[in-house]
Amino acid sequence: MALMDMAATMIFTDCSSSSSSSSTARLLHFTSTKVQKLPNTISRFHRSNSLQFGISNPRFSRTIITHCSSSSISAIELNNEASATVIDGKRVAKDIREEVAVEISRMKDEIGIVPGLAVILVGDRKDSATYVRNKKKACDSVGINSYEVRLAEDSSEEEVLKHISKFNDDPSVHGILVQLPLPSHMNEQNILNAVCIEKDVDGFHPLNIGRLAMRGREPLFVPCTPKGCIELLHRYDIPIKGKRAVVIGRSNIVGMPAALLLQREDATVSIVHSRTKNPEEITRQADIVISAVGQPNMVRGSWVKPGAVIIDVGINPVEDPESPRGYRLVGDICYEEASKVASAITPVPGGVGPMTIAMLLSNTLLSAKRVHNFR
Ligand code: NAP
Repeated sequence: MALMDMAATMIFTDCSSSSSSSSTARLLHFTSTKVQKLPNTISRFHRSNSLQFGISNPRFSRTIITHCSSSSISAIELNNEASATVIDGKRVAKDIREEVAVEISRMKDEIGIVPGLAVILVGDRKDSATYVRNKKKACDSVGINSYEVRLAEDSSEEEVLKHISKFNDDPSVHGILVQLPLPSHMNEQNILNAVCIEKDVDGFHPLNIGRLAMRGREPLFVPCTPKGCIELLHRYDIPIKGKRAVVIGRSNIVGMPAALLLQREDATVSIVHSRTKNPEEITRQADIVISAVGQPNMVRGSWVKPGAVIIDVGINPVEDPESPRGYRLVGDICYEEASKVASAITPVPGGVGPMTIAMLLSNTLLSAKRVHNFR
Protein backbone atom coordinates (compact mmCIF):
# COMPACT_ATOMS: atom_id res chain seq x y z
CA MET A 1 0.00 0.00 0.00
CA ALA A 2 1.40 3.44 -0.89
CA LEU A 3 2.26 5.12 2.34
CA MET A 4 1.76 8.57 0.86
CA ASP A 5 -1.93 7.87 0.68
CA MET A 6 -2.30 6.95 4.25
CA ALA A 7 -4.12 9.11 6.72
CA ALA A 8 -4.66 6.98 9.74
CA THR A 9 -3.14 3.98 11.37
CA MET A 10 -4.95 1.29 13.23
CA ILE A 11 -3.19 -0.90 15.71
CA PHE A 12 -5.07 -3.95 16.85
CA THR A 13 -3.89 -5.58 19.97
CA ASP A 14 -5.19 -7.99 22.49
CA CYS A 15 -4.63 -8.15 26.20
CA SER A 16 -6.25 -11.44 26.80
CA SER A 17 -6.20 -11.51 30.56
CA SER A 18 -7.65 -8.07 30.94
CA SER A 19 -10.78 -7.51 32.88
CA SER A 20 -11.22 -4.01 31.60
CA SER A 21 -12.60 -2.46 28.44
CA SER A 22 -12.80 -4.71 25.44
CA SER A 23 -11.90 -1.93 23.05
CA THR A 24 -8.28 -2.81 23.05
CA ALA A 25 -7.42 -1.71 19.57
CA ARG A 26 -7.03 1.91 18.80
CA LEU A 27 -7.18 4.04 15.73
CA LEU A 28 -4.29 6.44 15.49
CA HIS A 29 -4.64 9.65 13.54
CA PHE A 30 -1.59 11.72 12.99
CA THR A 31 -0.70 14.79 11.09
CA SER A 32 2.94 14.80 10.26
CA THR A 33 5.26 17.65 9.56
CA LYS A 34 8.15 15.79 8.07
CA VAL A 35 9.25 12.35 8.97
CA GLN A 36 11.99 10.94 6.78
CA LYS A 37 12.54 7.64 8.38
CA LEU A 38 10.47 6.25 11.13
CA PRO A 39 11.88 3.87 13.69
CA ASN A 40 10.21 0.61 14.36
CA THR A 41 8.36 2.11 17.24
CA ILE A 42 5.93 4.94 16.96
CA SER A 43 7.63 6.84 19.74
CA ARG A 44 9.97 9.02 17.75
CA PHE A 45 7.54 10.38 15.28
CA HIS A 46 5.19 11.22 18.10
CA ARG A 47 7.66 13.83 19.29
CA SER A 48 7.09 15.88 16.18
CA ASN A 49 3.53 15.00 15.40
CA SER A 50 0.13 15.20 16.93
CA LEU A 51 -1.42 11.91 17.80
CA GLN A 52 -4.87 10.89 18.87
CA PHE A 53 -6.39 7.56 19.55
CA GLY A 54 -9.79 6.28 18.40
CA ILE A 55 -11.56 2.95 18.68
CA SER A 56 -11.26 -0.16 16.59
CA ASN A 57 -11.43 -3.90 16.84
CA PRO A 58 -9.91 -5.85 19.70
CA ARG A 59 -9.71 -9.21 18.06
CA PHE A 60 -6.78 -8.65 15.78
CA SER A 61 -3.15 -8.31 16.62
CA ARG A 62 -1.64 -6.55 13.63
CA THR A 63 -1.10 -3.14 12.20
CA ILE A 64 -3.21 -1.87 9.34
CA ILE A 65 -2.28 1.48 7.90
CA THR A 66 -5.20 3.03 6.07
CA HIS A 67 -4.57 6.70 5.53
CA CYS A 68 -2.02 9.40 6.27
CA SER A 69 -2.70 13.08 5.94
CA SER A 70 0.84 14.15 5.10
CA SER A 71 2.53 13.51 1.81
CA SER A 72 5.93 14.09 3.39
CA ILE A 73 5.90 10.79 5.20
CA SER A 74 8.36 8.61 3.37
CA ALA A 75 8.22 5.51 5.47
CA ILE A 76 6.01 4.32 8.21
CA GLU A 77 6.74 1.18 10.01
CA LEU A 78 4.71 0.48 13.06
CA ASN A 79 5.84 -2.35 15.17
CA ASN A 80 3.66 -5.11 16.42
CA GLU A 81 6.54 -6.48 18.44
CA ALA A 82 7.41 -5.36 21.92
CA SER A 83 9.99 -2.66 21.32
CA ALA A 84 10.36 -1.11 24.76
CA THR A 85 13.48 -1.63 26.82
CA VAL A 86 12.68 -4.08 29.58
CA ILE A 87 13.62 -2.57 32.91
CA ASP A 88 15.10 -5.54 34.68
CA GLY A 89 14.30 -5.09 38.35
CA LYS A 90 15.64 -8.49 39.22
CA ARG A 91 19.08 -7.61 37.92
CA VAL A 92 19.12 -4.15 39.48
CA ALA A 93 17.95 -5.57 42.81
CA LYS A 94 20.76 -8.13 42.67
CA ASP A 95 23.29 -5.34 42.04
CA ILE A 96 21.93 -3.39 45.00
CA ARG A 97 22.08 -6.41 47.27
CA GLU A 98 25.69 -6.98 46.30
CA GLU A 99 26.49 -3.34 47.02
CA VAL A 100 24.76 -3.57 50.40
CA ALA A 101 26.67 -6.78 51.24
CA VAL A 102 29.99 -5.10 50.44
CA GLU A 103 29.15 -2.14 52.69
CA ILE A 104 27.99 -4.39 55.53
CA SER A 105 31.19 -6.35 55.41
CA ARG A 106 33.24 -3.10 55.39
CA MET A 107 31.26 -1.85 58.40
CA LYS A 108 31.78 -5.07 60.28
CA ASP A 109 35.51 -5.03 59.55
CA GLU A 110 36.02 -1.38 60.44
CA ILE A 111 33.75 -0.82 63.45
CA GLY A 112 32.50 -4.29 64.35
CA ILE A 113 28.85 -3.41 63.82
CA VAL A 114 26.35 -5.62 61.99
CA PRO A 115 23.01 -4.05 61.01
CA GLY A 116 19.90 -5.70 62.46
CA LEU A 117 16.32 -5.81 61.19
CA ALA A 118 13.35 -6.83 63.36
CA VAL A 119 10.15 -8.05 61.77
CA ILE A 120 6.83 -8.42 63.57
CA LEU A 121 4.27 -10.69 61.98
CA VAL A 122 0.77 -10.93 63.41
CA GLY A 123 -1.66 -13.62 62.30
CA ASP A 124 -1.31 -16.46 59.85
CA ARG A 125 -1.83 -14.97 56.42
CA LYS A 126 0.13 -17.12 54.01
CA ASP A 127 1.20 -14.23 51.79
CA SER A 128 2.49 -12.25 54.78
CA ALA A 129 4.38 -15.29 56.07
CA THR A 130 5.98 -15.69 52.63
CA TYR A 131 7.01 -12.01 52.53
CA VAL A 132 8.55 -12.30 56.00
CA ARG A 133 10.40 -15.47 55.04
CA ASN A 134 11.75 -13.78 51.92
CA LYS A 135 12.88 -10.77 53.93
CA LYS A 136 14.73 -13.02 56.36
CA LYS A 137 16.42 -14.86 53.50
CA ALA A 138 17.41 -11.55 51.93
CA CYS A 139 18.86 -10.33 55.24
CA ASP A 140 20.88 -13.53 55.58
CA SER A 141 22.20 -13.19 52.05
CA VAL A 142 23.71 -9.74 52.68
CA GLY A 143 24.80 -10.27 56.29
CA ILE A 144 22.05 -8.37 58.15
CA ASN A 145 21.01 -9.91 61.47
CA SER A 146 17.29 -10.58 61.46
CA TYR A 147 14.99 -10.82 64.47
CA GLU A 148 11.48 -12.11 64.15
CA VAL A 149 8.41 -12.04 66.36
CA ARG A 150 5.34 -14.04 65.35
CA LEU A 151 2.11 -13.32 67.16
CA ALA A 152 -1.24 -15.06 66.97
CA GLU A 153 -4.10 -13.52 65.00
CA ASP A 154 -5.99 -12.78 68.23
CA SER A 155 -3.07 -11.05 69.97
CA SER A 156 -3.80 -7.69 71.49
CA GLU A 157 -2.57 -4.37 70.15
CA GLU A 158 -0.72 -3.90 73.48
CA GLU A 159 1.29 -7.03 72.81
CA VAL A 160 2.43 -5.71 69.45
CA LEU A 161 3.25 -2.32 71.01
CA LYS A 162 5.28 -4.06 73.74
CA HIS A 163 7.47 -5.77 71.14
CA ILE A 164 7.89 -2.56 69.17
CA SER A 165 8.98 -0.78 72.34
CA LYS A 166 11.51 -3.53 73.08
CA PHE A 167 13.00 -3.26 69.60
CA ASN A 168 12.99 0.54 69.80
CA ASP A 169 15.29 0.24 72.84
CA ASP A 170 17.53 -2.51 71.45
CA PRO A 171 20.76 -1.05 70.01
CA SER A 172 21.41 -4.14 67.90
CA VAL A 173 18.18 -3.45 65.97
CA HIS A 174 18.50 -0.72 63.34
CA GLY A 175 15.23 -1.28 61.53
CA ILE A 176 11.74 -2.35 62.65
CA LEU A 177 9.12 -3.58 60.26
CA VAL A 178 5.55 -4.49 61.10
CA GLN A 179 4.19 -6.72 58.36
CA LEU A 180 0.94 -5.33 56.96
CA PRO A 181 -1.97 -5.89 56.84
CA LEU A 182 -2.62 -6.23 60.55
CA PRO A 183 -5.69 -8.05 61.87
CA SER A 184 -8.76 -5.84 61.68
CA HIS A 185 -9.10 -5.44 65.46
CA MET A 186 -5.80 -3.56 65.59
CA ASN A 187 -5.29 0.12 64.95
CA GLU A 188 -2.65 0.26 62.23
CA GLN A 189 -1.99 3.94 62.85
CA ASN A 190 -1.22 3.44 66.54
CA ILE A 191 1.12 0.61 65.74
CA LEU A 192 3.03 2.29 62.92
CA ASN A 193 3.33 5.48 64.97
CA ALA A 194 4.98 3.49 67.77
CA VAL A 195 8.02 2.58 65.65
CA CYS A 196 10.69 5.16 66.48
CA ILE A 197 11.42 7.33 63.47
CA GLU A 198 15.15 6.43 63.53
CA LYS A 199 14.27 2.74 62.95
CA ASP A 200 11.33 3.26 60.59
CA VAL A 201 12.98 1.48 57.65
CA ASP A 202 9.59 1.10 55.94
CA GLY A 203 9.31 4.90 55.92
CA PHE A 204 5.62 4.79 56.93
CA HIS A 205 5.91 6.94 60.07
CA PRO A 206 3.95 10.19 59.57
CA LEU A 207 7.07 12.19 60.40
CA ASN A 208 9.00 10.51 57.61
CA ILE A 209 6.11 10.97 55.15
CA GLY A 210 5.66 14.58 56.31
CA ARG A 211 9.31 15.35 55.71
CA LEU A 212 9.09 13.69 52.31
CA ALA A 213 6.25 16.06 51.44
CA MET A 214 8.00 19.23 52.62
CA ARG A 215 10.49 21.22 50.65
CA GLY A 216 13.82 21.58 52.37
CA ARG A 217 13.17 18.66 54.73
CA GLU A 218 14.72 15.24 54.48
CA PRO A 219 12.95 12.05 55.58
CA LEU A 220 15.15 9.60 57.48
CA PHE A 221 13.71 6.82 55.33
CA VAL A 222 11.73 6.66 52.11
CA PRO A 223 9.14 3.86 51.69
CA CYS A 224 10.79 0.92 49.97
CA THR A 225 8.53 0.27 46.97
CA PRO A 226 8.35 3.86 45.67
CA LYS A 227 12.06 4.28 46.42
CA GLY A 228 12.66 1.18 44.30
CA CYS A 229 10.65 2.70 41.43
CA ILE A 230 12.78 5.85 41.41
CA GLU A 231 15.97 3.81 41.76
CA LEU A 232 15.02 1.89 38.61
CA LEU A 233 14.60 5.17 36.72
CA HIS A 234 17.99 6.36 37.96
CA ARG A 235 19.81 3.14 37.16
CA TYR A 236 18.40 3.18 33.63
CA ASP A 237 19.43 6.85 33.22
CA ILE A 238 15.86 7.90 32.62
CA PRO A 239 15.56 11.65 33.13
CA ILE A 240 12.84 12.79 35.55
CA LYS A 241 13.45 16.52 35.87
CA GLY A 242 10.89 18.55 33.94
CA LYS A 243 9.04 15.44 32.75
CA ARG A 244 5.30 14.92 33.06
CA ALA A 245 4.63 12.04 35.40
CA VAL A 246 1.37 10.33 36.25
CA VAL A 247 1.02 8.12 39.31
CA ILE A 248 -2.01 5.84 39.24
CA GLY A 249 -3.05 5.04 42.80
CA ARG A 250 -2.65 7.14 45.94
CA SER A 251 -2.13 4.64 48.75
CA ASN A 252 -0.03 5.64 51.73
CA ILE A 253 2.50 2.93 50.99
CA VAL A 254 3.03 3.30 47.24
CA GLY A 255 1.07 5.84 45.17
CA MET A 256 1.26 8.87 47.44
CA PRO A 257 4.97 8.57 48.34
CA ALA A 258 5.79 7.78 44.68
CA ALA A 259 4.13 11.04 43.64
CA LEU A 260 6.03 12.95 46.34
CA LEU A 261 9.32 11.42 45.25
CA LEU A 262 8.73 12.27 41.59
CA GLN A 263 7.94 15.84 42.62
CA ARG A 264 11.16 16.02 44.64
CA GLU A 265 12.93 14.97 41.43
CA ASP A 266 11.32 17.97 39.67
CA ALA A 267 8.77 16.10 37.61
CA THR A 268 5.34 17.66 37.06
CA VAL A 269 3.08 15.15 38.72
CA SER A 270 -0.60 14.20 38.35
CA ILE A 271 -2.30 11.57 40.45
CA VAL A 272 -5.02 9.32 39.06
CA HIS A 273 -7.29 7.48 41.53
CA SER A 274 -10.58 5.65 41.59
CA ARG A 275 -12.62 8.86 41.31
CA THR A 276 -10.61 10.38 38.49
CA LYS A 277 -12.93 11.16 35.58
CA ASN A 278 -10.64 10.75 32.61
CA PRO A 279 -7.77 8.48 33.68
CA GLU A 280 -6.90 7.39 30.15
CA GLU A 281 -6.55 10.93 28.85
CA ILE A 282 -4.46 12.05 31.84
CA THR A 283 -2.22 9.01 31.71
CA ARG A 284 -1.62 9.53 28.00
CA GLN A 285 0.05 12.86 28.78
CA ALA A 286 2.73 11.23 30.89
CA ASP A 287 6.38 10.77 30.01
CA ILE A 288 6.63 8.59 33.10
CA VAL A 289 3.83 6.42 34.48
CA ILE A 290 3.98 4.70 37.86
CA SER A 291 0.98 2.48 38.41
CA ALA A 292 0.02 1.06 41.83
CA VAL A 293 -3.62 0.15 41.60
CA GLY A 294 -4.11 -3.58 41.98
CA GLN A 295 -6.30 -4.04 38.86
CA PRO A 296 -4.95 -6.56 36.36
CA ASN A 297 -4.12 -5.04 32.96
CA MET A 298 -6.12 -1.89 33.64
CA VAL A 299 -3.80 0.38 31.70
CA ARG A 300 -4.08 -0.44 28.02
CA GLY A 301 -1.69 0.43 25.23
CA SER A 302 -3.96 3.30 24.24
CA TRP A 303 -3.37 4.94 27.64
CA VAL A 304 0.35 5.18 26.97
CA LYS A 305 2.04 8.09 25.28
CA PRO A 306 4.44 6.75 22.68
CA GLY A 307 7.91 6.72 24.15
CA ALA A 308 6.71 6.89 27.76
CA VAL A 309 8.46 5.01 30.54
CA ILE A 310 6.22 2.65 32.49
CA ILE A 311 6.83 1.44 36.03
CA ASP A 312 4.25 -1.18 36.99
CA VAL A 313 3.97 -1.77 40.73
CA GLY A 314 0.79 -3.86 40.54
CA ILE A 315 0.97 -7.53 41.45
CA ASN A 316 -2.30 -9.22 40.54
CA PRO A 317 -3.05 -12.91 40.38
CA VAL A 318 -5.15 -13.95 37.37
CA GLU A 319 -6.49 -17.41 36.65
CA ASP A 320 -4.27 -19.49 34.42
CA PRO A 321 -5.17 -23.16 34.02
CA GLU A 322 -1.85 -23.74 32.25
CA SER A 323 0.17 -22.65 35.25
CA PRO A 324 0.88 -25.39 37.83
CA ARG A 325 -0.45 -23.02 40.51
CA GLY A 326 -3.64 -22.32 38.54
CA TYR A 327 -2.82 -18.63 38.38
CA ARG A 328 -0.13 -16.26 37.24
CA LEU A 329 0.85 -12.75 38.25
CA VAL A 330 0.24 -9.74 36.05
CA GLY A 331 0.63 -6.04 36.61
CA ASP A 332 -1.75 -3.11 36.34
CA ILE A 333 -0.39 -2.42 32.89
CA CYS A 334 -1.33 -4.51 29.89
CA TYR A 335 2.28 -5.40 29.16
CA GLU A 336 1.57 -6.92 25.78
CA GLU A 337 0.11 -3.66 24.49
CA ALA A 338 2.13 -1.11 26.43
CA SER A 339 5.49 -2.65 25.56
CA LYS A 340 4.76 -1.83 21.91
CA VAL A 341 4.22 1.84 22.65
CA ALA A 342 6.47 2.66 25.62
CA SER A 343 10.20 3.25 25.38
CA ALA A 344 10.87 1.32 28.59
CA ILE A 345 8.74 -0.84 30.87
CA THR A 346 9.01 -3.01 33.95
CA PRO A 347 7.74 -6.59 33.67
CA VAL A 348 5.58 -8.32 36.29
CA PRO A 349 7.04 -10.33 37.87
CA GLY A 350 10.69 -9.26 37.80
CA GLY A 351 10.27 -5.48 37.79
CA VAL A 352 9.44 -3.49 40.90
CA GLY A 353 8.83 -6.54 43.12
CA PRO A 354 12.48 -7.49 43.74
CA MET A 355 13.36 -3.84 44.29
CA THR A 356 11.21 -3.55 47.41
CA ILE A 357 13.27 -5.98 49.45
CA ALA A 358 16.52 -4.58 48.04
CA MET A 359 15.44 -1.11 49.26
CA LEU A 360 14.55 -2.52 52.67
CA LEU A 361 18.08 -3.91 53.00
CA SER A 362 19.49 -0.62 51.81
CA ASN A 363 17.38 1.34 54.35
CA THR A 364 18.52 -0.97 57.17
CA LEU A 365 22.15 -0.41 56.22
CA LEU A 366 21.52 3.33 56.01
CA SER A 367 20.04 3.28 59.50
CA ALA A 368 23.00 1.43 61.01
CA LYS A 369 25.45 3.76 59.25
CA ARG A 370 23.62 6.81 60.52
CA VAL A 371 23.42 5.69 64.13
CA HIS A 372 27.11 4.75 64.19
CA ASN A 373 28.15 7.71 62.10
CA PHE A 374 29.84 5.35 59.63
CA ARG A 375 30.58 6.70 56.17
P1 NAP B 1 -4.30 0.06 47.61
O1 NAP B 1 -3.96 0.52 48.96
O2 NAP B 1 -5.48 -0.80 47.39
O3 NAP B 1 -4.47 1.37 46.68
C1 NAP B 1 -4.92 1.26 45.37
C2 NAP B 1 -5.01 2.64 44.78
O4 NAP B 1 -5.47 2.49 43.45
C3 NAP B 1 -6.01 3.55 45.51
O5 NAP B 1 -5.44 4.83 45.63
C4 NAP B 1 -7.23 3.56 44.58
O6 NAP B 1 -7.90 4.79 44.53
C5 NAP B 1 -6.58 3.34 43.23
N1 NAP B 1 -7.52 2.71 42.32
C6 NAP B 1 -8.28 1.61 42.53
N2 NAP B 1 -9.01 1.34 41.44
C7 NAP B 1 -8.71 2.29 40.53
C8 NAP B 1 -9.14 2.55 39.22
N3 NAP B 1 -10.03 1.78 38.61
N4 NAP B 1 -8.62 3.62 38.58
C9 NAP B 1 -7.71 4.41 39.17
N5 NAP B 1 -7.25 4.20 40.43
C10 NAP B 1 -7.76 3.16 41.09
O7 NAP B 1 -3.10 -0.69 46.92
P2 NAP B 1 -1.51 -0.59 47.16
O8 NAP B 1 -1.17 -1.17 48.46
O9 NAP B 1 -1.03 0.76 46.81
O10 NAP B 1 -1.02 -1.63 46.04
C11 NAP B 1 -1.31 -1.44 44.68
C12 NAP B 1 -0.77 -2.59 43.88
O11 NAP B 1 0.63 -2.65 44.05
C13 NAP B 1 -1.28 -3.97 44.30
O12 NAP B 1 -1.38 -4.79 43.17
C14 NAP B 1 -0.19 -4.49 45.20
O13 NAP B 1 -0.14 -5.90 45.24
C15 NAP B 1 1.03 -3.91 44.54
N6 NAP B 1 2.17 -3.72 45.43
C16 NAP B 1 3.36 -4.18 44.99
C17 NAP B 1 4.48 -3.99 45.76
C18 NAP B 1 5.80 -4.46 45.25
O14 NAP B 1 6.70 -4.70 46.02
N7 NAP B 1 5.97 -4.57 43.93
C19 NAP B 1 4.40 -3.36 46.99
C20 NAP B 1 3.17 -2.86 47.40
C21 NAP B 1 2.05 -3.04 46.61
P3 NAP B 1 -8.68 5.42 45.80
O15 NAP B 1 -7.61 6.02 46.66
O16 NAP B 1 -9.57 6.44 45.19
O17 NAP B 1 -9.38 4.29 46.46
